[in-house]
Amino acid sequence: MVINQNNKNILKDISICFINPPILDYALYDLFAIPLGILKTINLLKFFGIDYFYLDALNKNFDLSYFPKGTIKPTIRSNGTGKYWKKKIEPPVELKFFNREFYRFGLSFEKIIEILKNEISKRKKSFDFIVISSIFTYHYLSLKILIQYLKENFQNTKIIIAGIYPKIIFEHAKSLGADYVFKEDAFEFVKFIFELTSKDNSHIELLKESNLIYKNTQDNDSFDILPDWDLLDNQRYGVIRLTSGCPYNCQYCASKIISGEYKKLDLSYSLTQLSYFVKRNIFNIAFYDDALLIDQNLFLTFIFEARKVSLKFIFYLPNAIHIAKTTKEILNAMQNFKMIRFGLESLNIEDEKYGNKFKIDQLKNLLNNLNESKIPKEVVSFYILVGLPGQSFAEVENTIKTALKLGIKPRIAEYSPIPSTPLFERAKQELIANKKSYINIDEPLFQNPSIYPYIATEFTQENMKKLKNMIYG
Ligand code: SF4
Repeated sequence: MVINQNNKNILKDISICFINPPILDYALYDLFAIPLGILKTINLLKFFGIDYFYLDALNKNFDLSYFPKGTIKPTIRSNGTGKYWKKKIEPPVELKFFNREFYRFGLSFEKIIEILKNEISKRKKSFDFIVISSIFTYHYLSLKILIQYLKENFQNTKIIIAGIYPKIIFEHAKSLGADYVFKEDAFEFVKFIFELTSKDNSHIELLKESNLIYKNTQDNDSFDILPDWDLLDNQRYGVIRLTSGCPYNCQYCASKIISGEYKKLDLSYSLTQLSYFVKRNIFNIAFYDDALLIDQNLFLTFIFEARKVSLKFIFYLPNAIHIAKTTKEILNAMQNFKMIRFGLESLNIEDEKYGNKFKIDQLKNLLNNLNESKIPKEVVSFYILVGLPGQSFAEVENTIKTALKLGIKPRIAEYSPIPSTPLFERAKQELIANKKSYINIDEPLFQNPSIYPYIATEFTQENMKKLKNMIYG
């Protein structure tokens, strides 16, 4: 690798502001949420000396002075997860009919502008680009409003939308008024910036030889990028991944659209980050994998190596793990885990929309193994999907009843129709068949799991309450 002063100066005269925007929604909870895309992108751009500023509008560590009167304070658990700053606001016109309180989570748009103006006056130079990150399609409204504010206040700055939302509905993202919409990953983003600024891009390949990039196992053409964890202040948790994507094809899931084919990451990629977390005194670690246990040896080796790095790590599995892949040996390795969530989805397991991921014997086997293990009961729960097309209230009621009898702690996961997934089309057909075609799920606001099941399916607010009462009493 040739890192010389020239490499480090290539983007020195370019300044970019990255914003993790506020969110407008009914509910939002920080369950190990980290804008990894931004952290990776900045790390790569720093290699070329970029002048950057990062603003996380959802940062729970801002103090009261950052928020208007009436904003509700966050509640933060000892592991750093918890509720964001939130202020009750009027819902968008399209959602006015729905009887539920609506909030802005994070900084106000006015405050964001004020912070950026202060930053610009400090550095005596405006930003060349402002990049807004995104995840869920149904959160596009805050991007749209933010773009309007940015355009009014920083006429000479180009606005870019990036992240998962444009990956899923690119054309919709193009309608929000940004100058550019970008739907690729962090490495491609660096190329994009070189292109936009007419820089000599012959140096970009040098990144692949740097210590920021880790080639994936079994596939030397793909790689992952180290996030710049230093961008986060007062961070109490870290996140880690051993794999990317998932080999299954559940009809409701967007894993393939977002992450592509299943890949195993280089173990040193995750272990390097663990060592870094130890230096920062971060011991709460959540796995981000979609399919963590497909290669059980990879997981077991990681846990073995992680214990060599520190015995203080506490691991969490906020994403569902596979029932069929969780053997006795795997459970043994999970004894100090504080959160273990399985993807049960439904006990109507013959229905292929759930992905045929386990057999009933495998579930019973797992429950026996869990009973025999030292894992505390309160740590374990099972996701049950609610509100899918073709799913009846009776089916879910039956799943919950049976699950409770088996000693399972169910956890309701409301369905979100995601464009380009097979079930999205089925959801549309079902709306027509049920004479509800006035609900237009091509409008992303109706893709929200806090809205769609309640207005489009049998899972009305009242029915959902019944299900929750069955579980939580
Ligand atoms: S197993 Fe999970 S991640 Fe994989 S396709 Fe199914 S829902 Fe998606």
